[in-house]
Amino acid sequence: MSEVIIALSKGRILDDTLPLLADAGIWPEEDVRKSRKLIFATNKPNIRLVVLRATDVPTYVQHGAADLGVSGKDVLLENGADNLCEPLDLEIASCRLMTASVVGRQVTGRRRRVATKFVNIAKRYYADRGIQADIIKLYGGMELAPLMGLADEIVDIVDTGNTLKANGLEPLELIEHISSRLIANQASMKMKYATLREIIEGLERAVIQRRSA
Ligand code: AMP
Repeated sequence: MSEVIIALSKGRILDDTLPLLADAGIWPEEDVRKSRKLIFATNKPNIRLVVLRATDVPTYVQHGAADLGVSGKDVLLENGADNLCEPLDLEIASCRLMTASVVGRQVTGRRRRVATKFVNIAKRYYADRGIQADIIKLYGGMELAPLMGLADEIVDIVDTGNTLKANGLEPLELIEHISSRLIANQASMKMKYATLREIIEGLERAVIQRRSA
């Protein structure tokens, strides 16, 4: 059995990941959400978990500092996925990446100011549609930008739509359906094949079981 590190994304994704991991027979030895630690032993002596900012998870896995990771498809699309493979859609933390603007505002011009933290995804999206977008990078609170006249529209994640609604915004166009993916370092997949295979298959069974529940 090889030593395996699994990198988990903090926050909302973590809340969905831990029960899925438990269904696959892997659980941390202490409460990850209550601890200030970043690295956790599990019930499996060869498996440890690290809990990271969502955007750092692919970086750890790309460099082989972690063998497996759980990452939102939004993060993978935005930051690229070199040296990674994506063996499984975990079907958790599902949401949509959408354009949005102020309720009733007609955003139709071929030139637009777009505020987002998903700069690369937005660039590709508007370029594919022949729209000249001036992308304004923000790190949070995107909803404010169209209200304050900083941007015509935003590109952001929508789940229930409540955040948009609470700020007088509405979703416009769907860019991508998002869910969290299991990612693996390509070299680890070769060198630790048997151990990783077992973990991936355990998670796959858990995903299928939930689908039919
Ligand atoms: P909602 O109000 O339910 O539409 O949630 C929208 C906000 O929650 C977005 O601005 C996101 O920052 C965050 N959010 C919701 N779901 C996810 C997810 N699966 N992954 C990352 N962020 C999310």
